[in-house]
Amino acid sequence: MSAGLYFSHPACLEHDPRVHSPAHPDTPERLITLERALAERGWLGWERRQAPPASETQLELVHSAGHVRAIMDLCAAGGGAIDPDTFVGEASFRAALHAAGAACAMTGALLAGESRVGFCGVRPSGHHAERERAMGFCLFNNVAVAAATAIAELGLRRVFILDWDVHHGNGTAEIFRERPDVLFASIHQAGLFPGTGPLQDAGSGAGEGYTINLPVPAGSEEPLWLALLERVVLPAAVAFEPELVLVSAGFDAHVEDPLADCRLQTRSFVEMAGRVRDMALAAQIPVGVVLEGGYNQRVLAECVCATLPALAGEGQAPSGRTAPAQDPGPITARALEQVGRHWPL
Ligand SMILES: [Zn+2]
Repeated sequence: MSAGLYFSHPACLEHDPRVHSPAHPDTPERLITLERALAERGWLGWERRQAPPASETQLELVHSAGHVRAIMDLCAAGGGAIDPDTFVGEASFRAALHAAGAACAMTGALLAGESRVGFCGVRPSGHHAERERAMGFCLFNNVAVAAATAIAELGLRRVFILDWDVHHGNGTAEIFRERPDVLFASIHQAGLFPGTGPLQDAGSGAGEGYTINLPVPAGSEEPLWLALLERVVLPAAVAFEPELVLVSAGFDAHVEDPLADCRLQTRSFVEMAGRVRDMALAAQIPVGVVLEGGYNQRVLAECVCATLPALAGEGQAPSGRTAPAQDPGPITARALEQVGRHWPL
């Protein structure tokens, strides 16, 4: 049995915002560098699979038909700007279909018991895309399409989505804002694009309590991120009793990322992955990870190469590996108080 399942598709390399915005940070080279590094390491023992395109039915579980058609039509017409950050070319629709399709196919394979862990090395990323709106480099919300598909087509009752990209996963949060069957938790740098995701926003209506927003200040380091994950996010996730964990995995909280100001190290992502893996192992549920941001190519490749073995449970023992996260102070205390209104922390 392989260490895990790695989903990708060559179409994801054809999406290139630089056609319209020459200095755009979301380049195909992000994936090329990552996959070269993985190939040099024998893909870390992971089985590679080609991602199918998402179906219209799958996309329309979280997007309007009008949004899907608007992206298709704009690309077919040669592409252009959607907003000051988000650009498409002719090939972008196909790239986005396979990016969302990767997340769905991974989820299907995990739930069929083919592996305990999967990773989608795809772009464009997805977590900023809302039901009716592409934004922040994202066209379709890959992780949301996968979660909704798991519920609508594969019969799951509860899916937990962790978003550790440094930017708030506003699209995922809005799509599931009123739903109690998806627990969404995001740790993100406060004040950074897109500016959403305050601690007080816990979702709405039937979904109140099922959104966990944990903004952290610029300059935040590993102890705070780990404390929030270990003391707030994961205890709530355990209480939620999910049947699947999906991770919106951006690596742009790394100290060397050019787009943000957090100070995680490569090993910080290994630590986070290890804690998520331990939670999933204890609950006997699979973990599917979907690439989001990460704009220093070398660092992105290094982080993914280090994180995949941790997700697969290699290296340190699954329990007692590391000391519990230290309490870094008032931010964790406020998060415990806020999230503790809804979950037994
Ligand atoms: Zn990001």
